[in-house]
Amino acid sequence: AGSAPLIVVSNRLPFVLTRDKIGKLRRSHSAGGLVTALGPVVIKCGGLWIGWPGSHDMRTLDEIPEPDIPNGGLKSQQVKAVLVRQELFDSFYNGCCNGTFWPLFHSMPDRAIFSSETWKSIPLKDQHTKTKSVQAYQEVNEEFALKTIDALRQVHSRLLKEYNGNEDVMPVPVVWIHDYQLMLAAAMIRQVAIEENLACKLGFFLHIPFPSWDIMRLFPWDDQILEGILACDMVGFHIDDYCTNFIECCQRRLGCRVDHANGNVEYDNRTVHVRPLPIGIPFNHFQELALKAPRVMKDERVVLGVDRLDYTKGLVQRIKAFERLLERHPEHLERVVLMQIAVPSRTDVKEYKALKEEIDQLVGRINGRFSTADWSPIRYIYGCISQDNLAAFYRDSAVALVTPLRDGMNLVAKEFVACQINETGVLILSPFAGAGGTMREALLVNPYEVDMVSEMIHKALIMDVGERQRRMKLLRERESSMDVDYWMASFLREMQLVECAITGSP
Ligand code: UDP
Repeated sequence: AGSAPLIVVSNRLPFVLTRDKIGKLRRSHSAGGLVTALGPVVIKCGGLWIGWPGSHDMRTLDEIPEPDIPNGGLKSQQVKAVLVRQELFDSFYNGCCNGTFWPLFHSMPDRAIFSSETWKSIPLKDQHTKTKSVQAYQEVNEEFALKTIDALRQVHSRLLKEYNGNEDVMPVPVVWIHDYQLMLAAAMIRQVAIEENLACKLGFFLHIPFPSWDIMRLFPWDDQILEGILACDMVGFHIDDYCTNFIECCQRRLGCRVDHANGNVEYDNRTVHVRPLPIGIPFNHFQELALKAPRVMKDERVVLGVDRLDYTKGLVQRIKAFERLLERHPEHLERVVLMQIAVPSRTDVKEYKALKEEIDQLVGRINGRFSTADWSPIRYIYGCISQDNLAAFYRDSAVALVTPLRDGMNLVAKEFVACQINETGVLILSPFAGAGGTMREALLVNPYEVDMVSEMIHKALIMDVGERQRRMKLLRERESSMDVDYWMASFLREMQLVECAITGSP
């Protein structure tokens, strides 16, 4: 049998569709690690990618342009764009995904909105019990599910032709659903696949943390989320802790029989496999960028922060820790700068606007307090930077400060070490990032302890070069072998191992 066709389902397609001046649709490609790793696999196996094209300005779908890159790209028939009304999408995305699930899953329930705004079109009599954004979440998940079923039908009829209708020897298509925007889609896909005898395996990977039982139960419809995920045959999380949390939720909330040691949950007369699969980065790609990137910084020691502007990243605490460093260790005045890159994110959400204001003020106050005629302690960039410049910053910084209050994995920590070709930089890392579990040679520090963070920066700045290189070398070795391709192969291998529960014609 040939290799199993892969159907990827993610909130965003691997490219954004935009219209040029004459109204023609164009693809603009995303450079993320997931896209670069999964894209070629989907292309090669004749699979499909289902997602939102990044714009609401699309009435016609049949005109998705063919790829314009010489060595391939997904053909237009390999792409299914999910389009929903803008109002519905906003309620789904800004409301339920980023207003509710993002803070809740990062164990910050105080920031989560449980308003009657955002789950599906449900019978009127139940309307008062559901919030609109939650309804939107269900409805949008159904849209994704419908497109995925279309994709499955398409793949099946192709396979039937290729294998002359002999289903016994046909490879079983794998559906891989990604992240917290799509936790309900699998339930509907499974139901229709069974009804229509569409053999397939369903997998899900969560790119953010999975919270403890005690946090998860704050969400009024937590049972539906758990059941949505359990509609899959295999479920991956970054680290063991998130797997444990999920399994415990299934046990305590749904009464499932579970096997913690083997990572199994019994549900609906099936076994769902729960696996820790820490994501990696395209290590070689970043290393190569670092090898050729020009020098962009002056001769000064830089402490680097790179984050989306998000309250989970601990930016305020970090900037205060840098201020504390300058107070407690004035020898660093005029010698060291904090370069903080904050990428604008979810600018429509109130919490994010307020955070931006707070950081603007904090940076202004500290710079006002310590600046001299030709030096300022904080260089703050609110905006995106190119990957070439990013690689140069990673390469030429003395210290990377990666201090999220909570983070699913944190790729910045990994990209920094990939770009440290001289191995002289020091990584300071929060234990509350998924990466904190494996990147043991980093300096680990609790981001809430501002004094300790400032002492850790000092320790990093005065660390002798031998120790810096020893630590960095080990960090680099691990990330170079456990890169994003390794992660993807591990997930697909686990999928291969699970038995096919939806078996096509009886
Ligand atoms: N990044 C970016 N634009 C920038 C700076 C950084 O796209 O101007 C990228 C960075 O290379 C990294 C990602 O943003 O891959 C951040 O990923 P991470 O896991 O650290 O945090 P997330 O934003 O997913 O919460």
